[in-house]
Parts: sequence; C-alpha cells; structure tokens
Amino acid sequence: MIVMKFGGTSVADCAAITRTIAIVRSKLEQKPVVVVSALSKVTDLLYKIADSAALKNRMETSELLGRLRSRHIGLAGELMADAPEYCAQACARIDEICDRLDSFVGAVCALGELSDRSKAVIIGTGEYLSSNVICCAMNAKGIRTGYMDARTMIVTDDEYLKGEPDSDAIQARVPGVVSAAYEGNDAVITQGFVAATAEGEPTVLGRGGSDYSASLIGMAINATAIEIWTDVDGVRTADPRKVENTRCIEKISFEEAAEMAHFGAKVLHPLTIEPAVNKNIPIYVLNSMNPGGKGTAILQSSFIEDGVKSVSFKENILVINIFSTKMINTSGFLKKVFEIFSVNKVSVDLISTSEANISVTVDSTQKIGRVVEQLSEFADVYVDRDKSQISVIGKNIINLKGLLRQTFAPLSDCKIYMISQGASYVNLSFVVDRDSMTDAVRQIHKYLFENEGSN
Ligand code: ADP
Ligand code: ASP
Ligand code: MG
Repeated sequence: MIVMKFGGTSVADCAAITRTIAIVRSKLEQKPVVVVSALSKVTDLLYKIADSAALKNRMETSELLGRLRSRHIGLAGELMADAPEYCAQACARIDEICDRLDSFVGAVCALGELSDRSKAVIIGTGEYLSSNVICCAMNAKGIRTGYMDARTMIVTDDEYLKGEPDSDAIQARVPGVVSAAYEGNDAVITQGFVAATAEGEPTVLGRGGSDYSASLIGMAINATAIEIWTDVDGVRTADPRKVENTRCIEKISFEEAAEMAHFGAKVLHPLTIEPAVNKNIPIYVLNSMNPGGKGTAILQSSFIEDGVKSVSFKENILVINIFSTKMINTSGFLKKVFEIFSVNKVSVDLISTSEANISVTVDSTQKIGRVVEQLSEFADVYVDRDKSQISVIGKNIINLKGLLRQTFAPLSDCKIYMISQGASYVNLSFVVDRDSMTDAVRQIHKYLFENEGSN
C-alpha cells in the first residue's frame, strides 16, 4: 500500500482535482490510501469564520459560510457534470456539513466565546468538505473509493489546535479502518489535518498538518511509500517564492529533510519525517501539476551523499538573551532556565551560551510573556524582535572545507547576531535583522548553488 497526500493547491479546483484523480488512477495497483487537504485557501477562510464568530459577528460569519458552501457546490457541479447522481450525493454531503457548521458557528456567535476545542471543529471542516467531494468524484469517474473519517483513526492528546499524536493508538486503529474501507473498493480516501482525542473530541494537527497525517497513516499501515503531492517539483535548494534559480534536490536524507522543515521550509510539516523514519518508509515530494517529474526522494542517510542541500529560513523570530553572573561556575542554571521554557510550552530553536549569557531563538508566534517574567526573577532578560533565522542544511556539512567562509563571505555587510552549529553536523544556523534576510538568503544561495566553479 502507498499513501498519497494531496495539498490545497492539488485540490484547488475542478482542473486540479481532475489531475489528482488521474494520478491516483495511475497508481491503483499499489493500493493507494489518499489523504486530502482542504481546497486551497479554505482553511484560511475557516480561521476567519472562527475569529468573526468570537466577535459575535453573525452577519459576517453567514456571508463567509455562504461563500464556503457555494464554492464546494459549484465545484461538485463542475466535477460531476456528467454524473448527476454522484453530484447530488456530493451536494447533499456538502449541505449536511455546512448546515452543521452553520449551527455550530451560530452557537459560538451567541456566546461570543471561542475555545480551542470549538476552533478545532471549525477549522477542520475544510478537509471534510474536500474529501467528500473528491470521494464522490472518484466514484463518478469509475474508481470505487471507500471513505474514512480520520477522526476514527488519528488519536491525539487534548492540545486541540496542535494535537500530539498517540502513535500506539494510531497503529492500533488505522489498519482495521483502512481494510474495512477497502472492502470491494479500488482506493480509499480520508482527511489530512483532523484528528481526535481518545474520547473522540475533535482536534487538529496544526497548520500544514496534512503531511503529518499522511506519514502517521503510512507508519500505521507499513506503507511502501508516502507520496506528498504539492505544487512544486520536489524539495528545492531554497524557497522558490523568495529565491530565483533554485534547483530541485533529487534525494535527501530523513535528517536533512527534518532539519529543513523544522528550520522553515514550508514544503513539509516539520513533524512529517519522524513516523516515516521509524519504519524506514521513503517519502517522495512530487508535483501534481507535473506528475511525470522525478520529484525528491527522502531516504535513509546511507543512500545520501555529504554536502550542502539547501538554505532555509524563518522570517520572524525572537531572540531571548538571558544574562546572569550566577551562571558562572554554577551547575543547574541551564536546567532552571530550560525548565521555564518547558513548563510554558515554548519551544526553542537555537541556543548559544557564553560564561554569563544564554541566547535562544523562538518562533514569533509563541507566547513568551510568562517565560520572560519567570526568567527575570533571577536574570536580566532582553528580547530582540524583528530578527530572522537562516539555516544552511546538508549532511556532514562540518566536513566541508571552507563552508563557514562560503556561507559568511557574501554577508560582509550584514550584522550577524548569533551562530549555532548543531552537533548533528546537518545544520549551520544564524540570526540576522529581518530586513536583511531576503538579501542574505539570496546571496548565500547564489554563492553555494549558483557558482559551481568557485565552491
Ligand atoms: P501544500 O498545499 O501542497 O501542502 P504548501 O504550500 O504547504 O503546499 O508547500 C509547498 C510550498 O512550499 C511551495 O509552493 C513553496 O513555495 C514552499 N517551499 C518553501 N521552501 C521550499 C523548498 N525548499 N522547496 C520546495 N518548496 C518550498
Ligand atoms: N488545511 C490545513 C492548512 O491549511 C492543513 C494542510 O493543508 O496541511 O493548514
Ligand atoms: Mg503544506
């Protein structure tokens, strides 16, 4: 069996879904488990609906919900123009899901209170809409397709908006659900992103979480491959939206891909790699608009050559600088500091220390108020805002002669605040001012990847 995950742009409209269905059809002998995201931009719309409901703005939520419904009804009509029965079935499902969402949003509006639990229900609806429409369209096009509710398979804790998966529970549930749905069918389909607690309360896996859903399912069914179908020709040497002349990487290791994703490359959700590594399942990143392309294979490290593979970045981060003379010659100081981060669930990316100072970077979306307050009880704390983090990633980059020179040579005019090289030898990261980031990334990319001769 293989898992095939299609992201928002791969299911954006009738043309994209038609291409997606053709791709699935070409792989039926491998018994695909199809995982779909919401249609492009639908999750953003649902966030807007949730925010508007919290502000008790019933007029606006009704208008937005109307848009959501008509986009899906219109899509079903286009996709199944020559199969009225399937179209009617899809429209009935859309109406049912939208009616339920409408009354749920109405209740939130009445209260003017939006808990994380309610928000998870609202923002997960896009995947239910897309998976129902696509399931009907696949059946209409002659691919007998069984439907599965991901909330019966993907179990998480009760962190409603970023549930932590329970691997054992998922492995216990997924195979049974998949084989039941496969009875008499050629393929099965389910939602990415959505999950539920063991008690069945709806949760989601965090933005971009459909990739993670796909690899969790792949792990649970011992898939032979996990395919992530998106809108670019595989993993590239940098984000093509920021940098010109990027190249597609033919193969990278699990560790390199994990570091890239963790350090900002949006092409994969940062946690996607872990379940696949555990079972050594290859992940392929492929372009649904160019299905014949080779894409990128993410494989065990032994198949991968040493060398720089990519430059990634996190555009908006904070640097927390902690100063204390008590640090000198005392054991347990670092423990005390990191316990504060841990208790407040703030995750740290980079760390650098000196005798009397620790600097750490965190994503700007994290809430650091309590951390700063608690650290300030025993240290001086300064937070630097509007910073960006740039990471050069590649297997055993430490062994590359001149890497530091090559990385920093193009940055002679750029202020560098913090440098960190992980012991994993896969990642060299540093912090710059946010307004010099784009230029710095472009310069480094040019120097490392566009200047073959000079490297
Ligand atoms: P999907 O909706 O299919 O999940 P995403 O938008 O989440 O797609 O991810 C694909 C996007 O990731 C690409 O369009 C590209 O702009 C961006 N991206 C960022 N860094 C990279 C990279 N190193 N290689 C490829 N794509 C990247
Ligand atoms: N639809 C969700 C999002 O936009 C999950 C995903 O697409 O991976 O974040
Ligand atoms: Mg994505």
